[in-house]
Amino acid sequence: GSKSYSFMLRTKNPCGKVSNQLYLTMDDLADQFGIGTLRLTTRQTFQLHGVLKKDLKTVMGTIIRNLGSTLGACGDLNRNVLAPAAPFLREDYLFAQKTAENIAALLTPQSGFYYDMWVDGERIMSAEPPEAVQARNDNSHGTNFPDSPEPIYGTQFLPRKFKIAVTVPTDNSVDILTNDIGIVVVSGDDGKPQGFNIYVGGGMGRTHRLETTFPRLGEPLGYVPKEDILSAVKAIVVTQRENGRRDDRKYSRMKYLISSWGIEKFRSVVEQYYGKKFEPFRVLPEWEFKSYLGWHEQGDGSLFCGLHVDSGRIAGKMKKTLREVIEKYNLNVRITPNQNIILTDIRTAWKRPISTSLAQAGLLHPKYVDPLNVTAMACPAFPLCPLAITEAERGIPQILKRVRSVFEKVGLKYSESVVIRITGCPNGCARPYMAELGLVGDGPNSYQIWLGGKPNQTSLARSFMNKVKIQDLERVLEPLFYYWKHKRQSKESFGDFTNRTGFEKLQELVEKWEGP
Ligand code: SF4
Repeated sequence: GSKSYSFMLRTKNPCGKVSNQLYLTMDDLADQFGIGTLRLTTRQTFQLHGVLKKDLKTVMGTIIRNLGSTLGACGDLNRNVLAPAAPFLREDYLFAQKTAENIAALLTPQSGFYYDMWVDGERIMSAEPPEAVQARNDNSHGTNFPDSPEPIYGTQFLPRKFKIAVTVPTDNSVDILTNDIGIVVVSGDDGKPQGFNIYVGGGMGRTHRLETTFPRLGEPLGYVPKEDILSAVKAIVVTQRENGRRDDRKYSRMKYLISSWGIEKFRSVVEQYYGKKFEPFRVLPEWEFKSYLGWHEQGDGSLFCGLHVDSGRIAGKMKKTLREVIEKYNLNVRITPNQNIILTDIRTAWKRPISTSLAQAGLLHPKYVDPLNVTAMACPAFPLCPLAITEAERGIPQILKRVRSVFEKVGLKYSESVVIRITGCPNGCARPYMAELGLVGDGPNSYQIWLGGKPNQTSLARSFMNKVKIQDLERVLEPLFYYWKHKRQSKESFGDFTNRTGFEKLQELVEKWEGP
Protein backbone atom coordinates (compact mmCIF):
# COMPACT_ATOMS: atom_id res chain seq x y z
CA GLY A 1 0.00 0.00 0.00
CA SER A 2 0.94 3.63 0.13
CA LYS A 3 2.40 3.86 3.61
CA SER A 4 2.83 7.50 4.44
CA TYR A 5 5.85 8.40 6.47
CA SER A 6 5.68 11.50 8.58
CA PHE A 7 8.73 13.55 9.34
CA MET A 8 9.57 16.31 11.70
CA LEU A 9 12.09 18.85 10.49
CA ARG A 10 13.80 21.30 12.76
CA THR A 11 15.45 24.47 11.54
CA LYS A 12 18.45 26.19 13.03
CA ASN A 13 18.08 29.87 13.87
CA PRO A 14 20.59 31.24 16.38
CA CYS A 15 18.82 33.83 18.61
CA GLY A 16 15.53 32.88 16.93
CA LYS A 17 16.24 35.25 14.05
CA VAL A 18 14.04 34.54 11.06
CA SER A 19 14.26 36.58 7.90
CA ASN A 20 11.15 37.74 6.09
CA GLN A 21 11.94 35.39 3.25
CA LEU A 22 12.41 32.38 5.53
CA TYR A 23 9.17 33.05 7.39
CA LEU A 24 7.19 33.23 4.17
CA THR A 25 8.91 30.08 2.92
CA MET A 26 8.09 28.13 6.08
CA ASP A 27 4.52 29.37 5.94
CA ASP A 28 4.18 28.09 2.37
CA LEU A 29 5.88 24.78 3.11
CA ALA A 30 3.56 24.12 6.04
CA ASP A 31 0.60 24.36 3.69
CA GLN A 32 2.12 22.54 0.76
CA PHE A 33 3.93 19.72 2.51
CA GLY A 34 3.14 19.80 6.24
CA ILE A 35 -0.04 19.73 8.27
CA GLY A 36 -0.88 23.36 7.58
CA THR A 37 0.52 24.74 10.82
CA LEU A 38 3.87 26.11 11.99
CA ARG A 39 5.29 25.13 15.35
CA LEU A 40 7.66 27.44 17.24
CA THR A 41 9.88 25.62 19.73
CA THR A 42 11.42 26.33 23.12
CA ARG A 43 14.80 26.50 21.35
CA GLN A 44 13.76 29.37 19.09
CA THR A 45 13.34 27.25 15.99
CA PHE A 46 10.58 26.08 13.69
CA GLN A 47 9.37 22.53 13.60
CA LEU A 48 7.55 21.41 10.52
CA HIS A 49 5.46 18.36 11.29
CA GLY A 50 4.09 15.78 8.95
CA VAL A 51 6.29 16.15 5.90
CA LEU A 52 5.98 13.00 3.79
CA LYS A 53 9.08 11.09 2.83
CA LYS A 54 8.58 11.67 -0.88
CA ASP A 55 8.48 15.43 -0.29
CA LEU A 56 11.52 15.65 1.96
CA LYS A 57 14.07 16.52 -0.70
CA THR A 58 11.91 19.33 -2.06
CA VAL A 59 11.23 20.71 1.40
CA MET A 60 14.86 20.61 2.49
CA GLY A 61 16.08 22.10 -0.73
CA THR A 62 13.59 24.94 -0.40
CA ILE A 63 14.53 25.67 3.21
CA ILE A 64 18.23 25.57 2.49
CA ARG A 65 17.91 27.92 -0.48
CA ASN A 66 15.86 30.39 1.55
CA LEU A 67 17.73 30.06 4.78
CA GLY A 68 21.22 30.90 3.64
CA SER A 69 22.09 28.47 6.39
CA THR A 70 21.28 24.89 7.18
CA LEU A 71 18.80 22.62 8.77
CA GLY A 72 18.88 22.30 12.49
CA ALA A 73 21.30 20.37 14.55
CA CYS A 74 19.90 17.29 16.17
CA GLY A 75 21.19 14.24 17.91
CA ASP A 76 24.36 14.22 19.92
CA LEU A 77 25.67 17.63 19.21
CA ASN A 78 25.02 21.25 19.90
CA ARG A 79 21.39 22.32 19.61
CA ASN A 80 20.21 25.74 18.56
CA VAL A 81 22.00 28.37 20.65
CA LEU A 82 19.53 30.55 22.55
CA ALA A 83 19.80 34.31 23.01
CA PRO A 84 17.22 36.96 23.90
CA ALA A 85 14.93 37.48 20.93
CA ALA A 86 14.23 41.14 21.63
CA PRO A 87 15.67 43.33 18.85
CA PHE A 88 16.83 46.05 21.24
CA LEU A 89 19.55 48.18 19.74
CA ARG A 90 21.58 47.92 22.90
CA GLU A 91 25.21 47.05 23.01
CA ASP A 92 24.82 44.17 25.47
CA TYR A 93 21.88 42.60 23.60
CA LEU A 94 23.66 42.82 20.28
CA PHE A 95 26.79 41.38 21.81
CA ALA A 96 24.88 38.47 23.37
CA GLN A 97 23.26 37.71 20.01
CA LYS A 98 26.54 37.97 18.14
CA THR A 99 28.19 35.67 20.67
CA ALA A 100 25.38 33.12 20.24
CA GLU A 101 25.94 33.19 16.49
CA ASN A 102 29.70 32.76 16.91
CA ILE A 103 29.19 29.80 19.22
CA ALA A 104 26.69 28.24 16.82
CA ALA A 105 29.24 28.55 14.04
CA LEU A 106 32.00 27.17 16.26
CA LEU A 107 29.97 24.10 17.17
CA THR A 108 28.49 23.33 13.78
CA PRO A 109 29.92 20.03 12.60
CA GLN A 110 32.31 20.58 9.75
CA SER A 111 31.45 17.31 8.16
CA GLY A 112 28.53 15.02 7.71
CA PHE A 113 24.86 14.82 8.33
CA TYR A 114 22.85 16.95 10.59
CA TYR A 115 19.30 16.78 9.53
CA ASP A 116 16.68 16.35 12.15
CA MET A 117 14.52 13.73 10.58
CA TRP A 118 12.34 11.38 12.49
CA VAL A 119 10.21 8.53 11.27
CA ASP A 120 8.13 6.75 13.87
CA GLY A 121 10.55 7.89 16.55
CA GLU A 122 13.68 6.77 14.75
CA ARG A 123 16.15 9.32 13.55
CA ILE A 124 16.98 8.84 9.91
CA MET A 125 20.42 9.95 8.95
CA SER A 126 21.37 11.09 5.52
CA ALA A 127 24.21 12.93 3.91
CA GLU A 128 24.26 16.68 3.90
CA PRO A 129 23.30 17.90 0.44
CA PRO A 130 25.78 20.06 -1.51
CA GLU A 131 23.49 23.08 -1.18
CA ALA A 132 23.91 22.94 2.57
CA VAL A 133 27.67 22.86 2.38
CA GLN A 134 27.57 25.70 -0.12
CA ALA A 135 25.25 27.72 2.09
CA ARG A 136 27.44 27.23 5.12
CA ASN A 137 30.58 28.15 3.28
CA ASP A 138 28.87 31.35 2.19
CA ASN A 139 28.35 32.16 5.82
CA SER A 140 30.90 34.64 6.96
CA HIS A 141 31.09 33.51 10.59
CA GLY A 142 34.72 32.91 11.29
CA THR A 143 35.86 30.77 14.15
CA ASN A 144 39.04 30.80 16.10
CA PHE A 145 39.58 27.11 15.61
CA PRO A 146 40.10 26.26 11.97
CA ASP A 147 42.76 23.77 12.96
CA SER A 148 41.28 20.50 11.69
CA PRO A 149 38.32 19.35 9.66
CA GLU A 150 36.39 18.41 12.79
CA PRO A 151 38.02 20.45 15.56
CA ILE A 152 35.32 20.20 18.21
CA TYR A 153 33.73 16.83 17.85
CA GLY A 154 36.92 14.92 17.11
CA THR A 155 36.38 11.43 15.82
CA GLN A 156 33.15 11.10 17.75
CA PHE A 157 30.23 13.37 18.47
CA LEU A 158 29.28 14.35 22.00
CA PRO A 159 27.78 11.72 24.31
CA ARG A 160 24.41 13.51 24.16
CA LYS A 161 22.68 16.60 22.90
CA PHE A 162 24.21 19.82 24.16
CA LYS A 163 22.41 23.08 24.92
CA ILE A 164 23.82 26.58 25.20
CA ALA A 165 22.19 29.94 25.93
CA VAL A 166 23.65 33.45 25.98
CA THR A 167 21.93 36.41 27.59
CA VAL A 168 22.40 39.78 29.32
CA PRO A 169 22.03 40.51 33.05
CA THR A 170 18.41 40.40 34.32
CA ASP A 171 16.97 38.99 31.06
CA ASN A 172 16.05 35.39 31.78
CA SER A 173 13.89 34.93 28.71
CA VAL A 174 16.27 32.08 27.77
CA ASP A 175 15.84 29.98 30.94
CA ILE A 176 19.58 30.35 31.39
CA LEU A 177 20.04 27.80 34.18
CA THR A 178 18.50 24.91 32.21
CA ASN A 179 21.34 24.81 29.67
CA ASP A 180 24.54 22.78 29.61
CA ILE A 181 26.31 26.13 29.28
CA GLY A 182 24.69 29.44 30.24
CA ILE A 183 26.62 32.55 29.30
CA VAL A 184 25.92 36.06 30.58
CA VAL A 185 27.40 39.22 29.10
CA VAL A 186 29.11 41.35 31.77
CA SER A 187 29.52 45.04 30.90
CA GLY A 188 31.73 47.69 32.48
CA ASP A 189 30.54 50.96 33.99
CA ASP A 190 30.70 52.48 30.53
CA GLY A 191 28.13 49.96 29.28
CA LYS A 192 30.69 48.22 27.07
CA PRO A 193 30.71 44.41 27.20
CA GLN A 194 33.89 43.19 28.89
CA GLY A 195 33.44 39.51 29.51
CA PHE A 196 31.11 36.73 30.50
CA ASN A 197 29.90 34.83 33.54
CA ILE A 198 29.57 31.16 32.68
CA TYR A 199 27.18 28.65 34.28
CA VAL A 200 27.50 24.95 33.55
CA GLY A 201 25.57 21.76 34.13
CA GLY A 202 21.91 22.64 33.71
CA GLY A 203 19.51 20.17 32.14
CA MET A 204 15.91 19.03 32.41
CA GLY A 205 15.58 15.42 31.26
CA ARG A 206 15.00 12.60 33.70
CA THR A 207 13.47 9.14 33.81
CA HIS A 208 10.43 8.20 35.89
CA ARG A 209 11.10 6.05 38.97
CA LEU A 210 14.85 6.44 38.60
CA GLU A 211 16.08 8.75 41.34
CA THR A 212 19.59 8.80 39.94
CA THR A 213 18.26 10.84 37.00
CA PHE A 214 17.21 14.38 37.78
CA PRO A 215 16.72 17.89 36.45
CA ARG A 216 19.56 20.17 37.48
CA LEU A 217 20.31 23.91 37.54
CA GLY A 218 23.44 25.32 36.01
CA GLU A 219 26.02 26.47 38.57
CA PRO A 220 28.74 29.12 38.37
CA LEU A 221 31.95 28.05 36.62
CA GLY A 222 33.59 31.45 36.49
CA TYR A 223 34.22 34.58 34.48
CA VAL A 224 36.21 35.00 31.26
CA PRO A 225 37.30 38.13 29.40
CA LYS A 226 35.29 38.57 26.23
CA GLU A 227 38.06 37.58 23.84
CA ASP A 228 38.34 34.18 25.53
CA ILE A 229 34.74 33.04 25.29
CA LEU A 230 35.13 30.73 22.31
CA SER A 231 38.18 29.03 23.84
CA ALA A 232 36.30 28.60 27.10
CA VAL A 233 33.26 27.11 25.37
CA LYS A 234 35.46 24.82 23.34
CA ALA A 235 37.27 23.68 26.51
CA ILE A 236 33.96 22.86 28.23
CA VAL A 237 32.63 20.97 25.20
CA VAL A 238 35.85 18.99 24.86
CA THR A 239 35.76 18.13 28.59
CA GLN A 240 32.29 16.67 28.11
CA ARG A 241 33.30 14.95 24.88
CA GLU A 242 36.23 13.23 26.58
CA ASN A 243 34.63 12.45 29.93
CA GLY A 244 30.85 12.35 29.59
CA ARG A 245 29.37 8.89 30.03
CA ARG A 246 28.77 6.96 26.83
CA ASP A 247 27.75 3.63 28.34
CA ASP A 248 24.25 4.72 29.31
CA ARG A 249 22.36 7.48 27.53
CA LYS A 250 20.31 8.19 30.64
CA TYR A 251 23.44 9.56 32.32
CA SER A 252 25.30 11.08 29.43
CA ARG A 253 24.32 14.75 29.69
CA MET A 254 27.06 16.99 31.09
CA LYS A 255 25.03 17.63 34.26
CA TYR A 256 25.78 14.06 35.41
CA LEU A 257 29.49 14.51 34.80
CA ILE A 258 29.50 17.69 36.90
CA SER A 259 27.34 16.08 39.59
CA SER A 260 29.70 13.15 39.93
CA TRP A 261 32.92 15.17 39.79
CA GLY A 262 31.79 18.26 41.66
CA ILE A 263 32.31 21.74 40.21
CA GLU A 264 35.88 22.10 41.54
CA LYS A 265 37.21 19.10 39.68
CA PHE A 266 35.19 19.95 36.59
CA ARG A 267 36.61 23.47 36.60
CA SER A 268 40.18 22.28 36.94
CA VAL A 269 39.81 19.82 34.04
CA VAL A 270 38.26 22.51 31.83
CA GLU A 271 41.07 24.86 32.77
CA GLN A 272 43.61 22.37 31.43
CA TYR A 273 42.03 22.60 27.96
CA TYR A 274 41.35 26.33 28.29
CA GLY A 275 44.95 26.94 29.32
CA LYS A 276 43.97 29.60 31.86
CA LYS A 277 42.23 29.96 35.20
CA PHE A 278 38.66 31.13 35.33
CA GLU A 279 38.23 34.42 37.14
CA PRO A 280 35.69 34.72 39.97
CA PHE A 281 32.05 34.96 38.90
CA ARG A 282 30.91 38.58 38.78
CA VAL A 283 27.99 39.66 40.97
CA LEU A 284 24.97 40.50 38.82
CA PRO A 285 21.42 41.71 39.56
CA GLU A 286 18.40 39.39 39.98
CA TRP A 287 16.94 37.56 36.99
CA GLU A 288 13.57 38.55 35.59
CA PHE A 289 11.17 36.79 33.27
CA LYS A 290 10.79 38.88 30.09
CA SER A 291 7.98 38.13 27.66
CA TYR A 292 8.38 41.14 25.32
CA LEU A 293 4.67 40.90 24.52
CA GLY A 294 3.05 44.01 23.10
CA TRP A 295 4.70 47.07 21.56
CA HIS A 296 8.24 48.22 22.35
CA GLU A 297 10.83 50.64 20.98
CA GLN A 298 13.82 48.95 19.36
CA GLY A 299 16.04 51.94 20.01
CA ASP A 300 16.68 52.75 16.35
CA GLY A 301 13.38 54.57 15.71
CA SER A 302 11.55 51.38 14.79
CA LEU A 303 9.17 49.35 16.92
CA PHE A 304 8.70 45.69 17.66
CA CYS A 305 5.61 43.82 18.70
CA GLY A 306 5.62 40.57 20.66
CA LEU A 307 2.70 38.21 20.15
CA HIS A 308 1.71 35.30 22.31
CA VAL A 309 1.36 32.00 20.47
CA ASP A 310 -0.42 29.23 22.40
CA SER A 311 2.05 26.34 22.64
CA GLY A 312 3.96 27.87 19.75
CA ARG A 313 1.41 26.56 17.27
CA ILE A 314 0.70 29.05 14.49
CA ALA A 315 -2.51 27.94 12.85
CA GLY A 316 -5.75 29.10 11.32
CA LYS A 317 -6.62 32.77 11.50
CA MET A 318 -3.40 33.60 13.32
CA LYS A 319 -1.33 32.02 10.58
CA LYS A 320 -3.22 33.86 7.86
CA THR A 321 -3.03 37.24 9.60
CA LEU A 322 0.64 36.88 10.49
CA ARG A 323 1.45 36.00 6.92
CA GLU A 324 -0.44 39.01 5.60
CA VAL A 325 1.22 41.46 7.99
CA ILE A 326 4.71 40.00 7.65
CA GLU A 327 4.45 39.95 3.86
CA LYS A 328 2.86 43.37 3.43
CA TYR A 329 5.36 45.24 5.60
CA ASN A 330 8.31 43.04 4.74
CA LEU A 331 8.96 42.33 8.43
CA ASN A 332 11.66 40.12 9.88
CA VAL A 333 10.62 38.07 12.87
CA ARG A 334 12.15 36.45 15.96
CA ILE A 335 11.11 33.32 17.81
CA THR A 336 11.37 33.50 21.61
CA PRO A 337 12.37 30.64 23.92
CA ASN A 338 8.80 30.78 25.21
CA GLN A 339 7.50 29.78 21.79
CA ASN A 340 6.21 33.25 21.02
CA ILE A 341 6.86 35.45 18.01
CA ILE A 342 8.18 38.99 17.70
CA LEU A 343 7.50 41.16 14.66
CA THR A 344 10.48 43.47 14.19
CA ASP A 345 11.52 46.58 12.26
CA ILE A 346 8.10 48.19 12.31
CA ARG A 347 7.98 51.87 11.36
CA THR A 348 5.96 54.10 13.66
CA ALA A 349 3.50 54.88 10.88
CA TRP A 350 2.68 51.20 10.50
CA LYS A 351 1.80 50.69 14.15
CA ARG A 352 -1.84 51.62 13.74
CA PRO A 353 -2.72 49.51 10.69
CA ILE A 354 -0.77 46.55 12.06
CA SER A 355 -2.48 46.87 15.44
CA THR A 356 -5.83 46.88 13.67
CA SER A 357 -5.05 43.74 11.70
CA LEU A 358 -3.71 41.93 14.76
CA ALA A 359 -6.63 43.01 16.93
CA GLN A 360 -9.13 41.82 14.32
CA ALA A 361 -7.53 38.40 14.49
CA GLY A 362 -7.59 38.50 18.29
CA LEU A 363 -3.82 38.49 18.54
CA LEU A 364 -2.86 41.63 20.35
CA HIS A 365 -1.58 41.38 23.87
CA PRO A 366 -2.70 41.97 26.57
CA LYS A 367 -6.40 42.19 25.89
CA TYR A 368 -6.72 38.74 24.42
CA VAL A 369 -4.31 36.63 26.42
CA ASP A 370 -5.16 35.25 29.84
CA PRO A 371 -2.23 36.03 32.18
CA LEU A 372 -1.99 32.30 32.90
CA ASN A 373 -1.31 31.77 29.22
CA VAL A 374 1.52 34.27 29.01
CA THR A 375 3.96 32.14 30.97
CA ALA A 376 2.49 28.72 30.18
CA MET A 377 4.22 26.23 27.91
CA ALA A 378 3.53 22.75 26.63
CA CYS A 379 5.57 20.38 24.50
CA PRO A 380 4.10 18.87 21.29
CA ALA A 381 3.41 15.38 22.79
CA PHE A 382 0.48 13.53 21.15
CA PRO A 383 0.14 12.91 18.26
CA LEU A 384 3.50 14.24 17.11
CA CYS A 385 6.05 12.95 19.56
CA PRO A 386 6.69 9.20 19.79
CA LEU A 387 7.83 9.47 23.42
CA ALA A 388 4.59 11.01 24.66
CA ILE A 389 2.74 9.26 27.50
CA THR A 390 0.06 11.95 27.89
CA GLU A 391 -1.35 14.99 26.14
CA ALA A 392 0.48 18.31 26.51
CA GLU A 393 -0.07 20.83 23.68
CA ARG A 394 -3.54 19.50 22.88
CA GLY A 395 -4.50 19.38 26.54
CA ILE A 396 -3.13 22.67 27.85
CA PRO A 397 -5.91 25.03 26.67
CA GLN A 398 -8.47 23.06 28.65
CA ILE A 399 -6.18 22.72 31.66
CA LEU A 400 -5.52 26.47 31.78
CA LYS A 401 -9.26 27.12 31.65
CA ARG A 402 -9.74 24.75 34.55
CA VAL A 403 -6.99 26.48 36.53
CA ARG A 404 -8.68 29.80 35.80
CA SER A 405 -11.96 28.40 37.17
CA VAL A 406 -10.21 27.22 40.30
CA PHE A 407 -8.70 30.70 40.69
CA GLU A 408 -12.18 32.19 40.48
CA LYS A 409 -13.61 29.69 42.93
CA VAL A 410 -10.99 30.42 45.59
CA GLY A 411 -11.08 34.16 44.96
CA LEU A 412 -7.78 34.75 43.14
CA LYS A 413 -7.80 37.79 40.88
CA TYR A 414 -7.63 37.66 37.06
CA SER A 415 -4.26 39.42 37.11
CA GLU A 416 -2.69 36.76 39.32
CA SER A 417 -0.50 34.27 37.58
CA VAL A 418 1.41 31.07 38.09
CA VAL A 419 4.01 29.61 35.75
CA ILE A 420 2.46 26.40 34.38
CA ARG A 421 4.33 24.01 32.12
CA ILE A 422 3.16 20.66 30.81
CA THR A 423 5.03 17.86 29.07
CA GLY A 424 3.92 14.50 27.77
CA CYS A 425 6.90 12.65 29.27
CA PRO A 426 9.76 13.17 31.75
CA ASN A 427 12.13 14.30 29.01
CA GLY A 428 10.94 17.80 29.89
CA CYS A 429 11.10 19.62 26.55
CA ALA A 430 8.92 22.47 27.82
CA ARG A 431 11.11 22.77 30.96
CA PRO A 432 8.38 21.74 33.45
CA TYR A 433 10.90 21.36 36.28
CA MET A 434 11.32 25.14 36.37
CA ALA A 435 7.59 25.79 36.70
CA GLU A 436 5.63 26.83 39.75
CA LEU A 437 3.17 24.15 38.66
CA GLY A 438 4.65 21.50 36.38
CA LEU A 439 2.66 18.59 34.99
CA VAL A 440 4.70 15.71 33.63
CA GLY A 441 2.95 12.77 31.96
CA ASP A 442 3.52 9.59 33.97
CA GLY A 443 0.81 7.21 32.78
CA PRO A 444 -2.35 7.05 30.70
CA ASN A 445 -4.17 10.34 31.41
CA SER A 446 -2.11 10.91 34.52
CA TYR A 447 0.52 13.42 35.53
CA GLN A 448 3.22 13.83 38.07
CA ILE A 449 2.79 17.24 39.72
CA TRP A 450 5.86 19.39 40.34
CA LEU A 451 5.82 22.49 42.52
CA GLY A 452 8.24 25.13 43.70
CA GLY A 453 9.81 26.85 40.70
CA LYS A 454 10.00 30.63 40.70
CA PRO A 455 8.38 33.19 38.37
CA ASN A 456 11.86 34.17 37.14
CA GLN A 457 13.05 30.58 36.57
CA THR A 458 15.85 30.48 39.11
CA SER A 459 14.99 27.46 41.19
CA LEU A 460 14.07 23.87 40.52
CA ALA A 461 10.65 22.53 41.19
CA ARG A 462 10.34 19.31 43.16
CA SER A 463 8.02 16.41 42.63
CA PHE A 464 4.87 16.76 44.74
CA MET A 465 2.48 13.97 43.74
CA ASN A 466 2.46 11.10 41.28
CA LYS A 467 -0.19 9.61 39.03
CA VAL A 468 -2.78 12.34 39.40
CA LYS A 469 -5.50 11.57 36.88
CA ILE A 470 -6.33 14.47 34.62
CA GLN A 471 -9.97 14.45 35.76
CA ASP A 472 -8.84 14.79 39.39
CA LEU A 473 -6.74 17.89 38.91
CA GLU A 474 -9.09 20.18 40.82
CA ARG A 475 -8.92 17.93 43.86
CA VAL A 476 -5.22 18.86 44.12
CA LEU A 477 -5.23 22.38 42.75
CA GLU A 478 -8.18 23.76 44.68
CA PRO A 479 -6.64 23.33 48.14
CA LEU A 480 -3.22 24.48 46.91
CA PHE A 481 -4.55 27.69 45.42
CA TYR A 482 -6.99 28.23 48.30
CA TYR A 483 -4.19 28.14 50.86
CA TRP A 484 -1.92 30.25 48.67
CA LYS A 485 -4.64 32.90 48.50
CA HIS A 486 -5.30 32.81 52.24
CA LYS A 487 -1.94 32.03 53.82
CA ARG A 488 0.62 33.69 51.62
CA GLN A 489 2.85 36.47 52.81
CA SER A 490 2.55 39.75 50.96
CA LYS A 491 3.10 39.26 47.22
CA GLU A 492 4.50 35.79 47.79
CA SER A 493 4.57 33.84 44.54
CA PHE A 494 2.89 30.44 44.39
CA GLY A 495 6.28 28.75 44.03
CA ASP A 496 7.72 30.48 47.10
CA PHE A 497 4.54 29.73 49.05
CA THR A 498 4.71 26.00 48.31
CA ASN A 499 8.37 25.86 49.29
CA ARG A 500 7.89 27.81 52.51
CA THR A 501 4.86 25.77 53.56
CA GLY A 502 6.58 22.49 52.83
CA PHE A 503 5.34 19.64 50.68
CA GLU A 504 4.37 17.35 53.56
CA LYS A 505 2.11 19.97 55.03
CA LEU A 506 0.61 20.68 51.61
CA GLN A 507 0.01 16.99 50.96
CA GLU A 508 -1.86 16.78 54.23
CA LEU A 509 -3.99 19.79 53.28
CA VAL A 510 -4.79 18.21 49.92
CA GLU A 511 -5.82 14.94 51.55
CA LYS A 512 -8.09 16.62 54.08
CA TRP A 513 -9.62 19.05 51.60
CA GLU A 514 -13.42 19.22 51.60
CA GLY A 515 -13.91 22.43 49.68
CA PRO A 516 -13.47 26.13 50.45
FE1 SF4 B 1 8.06 14.41 23.41
FE2 SF4 B 1 8.52 14.10 25.99
FE3 SF4 B 1 9.67 16.15 24.67
FE4 SF4 B 1 7.07 16.16 25.14
S1 SF4 B 1 8.68 16.23 26.70
S2 SF4 B 1 8.05 16.63 23.18
S3 SF4 B 1 6.52 14.02 25.01
S4 SF4 B 1 10.06 13.98 24.35
